[in-house]
Amino acid sequence: MLCERCHHREATCHIVEMADGVEQVRDFCAECAESSASPELKSILDQTKDAQCEFCGRTPAGKSTDMFALMTATSHLRHMCLECSQEYHGFVLRSLSGVNPNMPQAEQLKDLSKVATDADSHMQNWTKQRKA
Ligand SMILES: [Zn+2]
Ligand SMILES: [Zn+2]
Repeated sequence: MLCERCHHREATCHIVEMADGVEQVRDFCAECAESSASPELKSILDQTKDAQCEFCGRTPAGKSTDMFALMTATSHLRHMCLECSQEYHGFVLRSLSGVNPNMPQAEQLKDLSKVATDADSHMQNWTKQRKA
């Protein structure tokens, strides 16, 4: 997959944005991710350049740092290898399809943080099964 900004380099940063209950995945190469990132995100990118996948502990090949950012009150970033991020995002998307976007925002936030917690335990089980 090519970077959606420069359409030139391979997209290795997949930034998930959450706005009004709608999830949007932005695919950037490391260079564009850095230049389009907020100062806050930049410092996290710097910290996680050599980070290991937080689920399976593998060091992602090259600079394939994947991130999941919930743009909510429970905002957080994760870094994981490509396989784990695909599984993680798949789980989150499936869970979010059950969230009613017409709900009051406070209710949505509750649901979103529940999805994040569920996704964590799902990933723990999934990596265990994968290793077995
Ligand atoms: Zn790019
Ligand atoms: Zn992994």
